[in-house]
Amino acid sequence: MTTASAPARTIAIVGAGPAGLIAAEKLARAGHRVTLYERMPSPARKFLLAGRGGLNLTHSEPLELFSTRYRAARPWLEPALAAFPPQALRDWADGLGADSFVGTSGRVFPRAMKASPLLRAWLRRLDGLGVSLASGHHWTGWDADGVLSFRDRKPVRADATLLALGGASWPRLGSDGSWVPLLAQRGVAVSALHPANGGFTVDWSPFMRERFSGQPLKRVVIRFEAHQATGEAMIDAGGIEGGAVYALSNPLREAVLRDGFAQIAIDLRPDMATDRLTERLGNRRKGETLSNHLRKAAGLSPVAIALLRESGALPEDAARLAALIKAAPLRLTGMAPIERAISTAGGVMASAVDAGFMLKALPGVFVAGEMLDWEAPTGGYLLQGCFSTGVAAAGGIEGWLARS
Ligand SMILES: Cc1cc2nc3c(=O)[nH]c(=O)nc-3n(C[C@H](O)[C@H](O)[C@H](O)COP(=O)(O)OP(=O)(O)OC[C@H]3O[C@@H](n4cnc5c(N)ncnc54)[C@H](O)[C@@H]3O)c2cc1C
Repeated sequence: MTTASAPARTIAIVGAGPAGLIAAEKLARAGHRVTLYERMPSPARKFLLAGRGGLNLTHSEPLELFSTRYRAARPWLEPALAAFPPQALRDWADGLGADSFVGTSGRVFPRAMKASPLLRAWLRRLDGLGVSLASGHHWTGWDADGVLSFRDRKPVRADATLLALGGASWPRLGSDGSWVPLLAQRGVAVSALHPANGGFTVDWSPFMRERFSGQPLKRVVIRFEAHQATGEAMIDAGGIEGGAVYALSNPLREAVLRDGFAQIAIDLRPDMATDRLTERLGNRRKGETLSNHLRKAAGLSPVAIALLRESGALPEDAARLAALIKAAPLRLTGMAPIERAISTAGGVMASAVDAGFMLKALPGVFVAGEMLDWEAPTGGYLLQGCFSTGVAAAGGIEGWLARS
């Protein structure tokens, strides 16, 4: 409801992903006239894709631990996370009939696992609140009078603007990072966009590439410097990806950018101590091939054995073989393209915005979601970051409109 002291204002939100949509909901509830401008024919395509493998909305761990997942961006995002924490996101989803539950890993999912029922209910709610959705509107910057420009569409004048344009991964879903030069030209500090939660390139031998592309290394531990991650790694023709690789993508990316490569060690039998492995490998039957022996005595899959062979001829000595299985070396030569990453690192820097997520260089223009310079692992932290900053930017807009 608006009051005489807070008249309804016109707000343009560009980008109808989770960050833009939640801000639209908050601002429409406050009584403002909100229009969402979206370049694609329909909203929230990445959100829908995120729901394909099970929509991991957020995580159930305590907020104190939760906020550490944003690493260097923690101090910046913490107020937004505290104001709209994981429980608030769960309550919100429950209110849309999505009934969330905590999975065994502490991750939070809607019961239906998918994003589509939640999105349908959300869009109905937004419609009921009077939010307009202008799809097929590709924002291209501002004209000389500071009015929003759209490709082949009429310019739009608004009392406040929220840009929620996403990162640059999966560009065919709408977010392609083409906003970077538009903001940089206007004096907004933007750090370079890089893939986050993505794979890395490896110079595989033709044998590995042709025979084992698409095969998983299950339940491995990947170690890099002081970091380690447990999970699955997937071999692909150009490199390696999967949960355990994604979990280390921040330090691995930094090493690749700094040194041109990153050397990881893969423990192919994390559940078996080196001594035990040595003992088992010491009992090789006469005439048995080494591959068969590795398969039987060490329980290695053909892809794991092939990975061992990538580092050169295999030692016959049991202790050296066991040591290799516990730390198979692999040189990552670069990052897989951002187009295939789950998320984006880099973006509008913390120094470019005020506490309400307004761009200091462009008063009245706010930013939220993945286009901000933060990154987090998978586990629900990405969507939570987008929702929390969307809510915070909506609060920033309300405060600014009240003041101006
Ligand atoms: C395969 C995959 C699985 C994922 N799974 C999960 C998961 O389970 N849990 C999780 O937390 N996160 C997940 N994510 C990440 C999550 O989906 C994103 O972090 C989140 O969608 C980002 O929200 P956003 O609103 O900031 O941006 P987006 O969702 O990218 O939305 C931005 C919108 O802006 C529009 N836009 C961009 N430029 C313009 C322009 N110039 N003019 C007009 N409109 C424009 C885009 O079309 C888009 O609709 C996944 C991502 C991928 C790719």
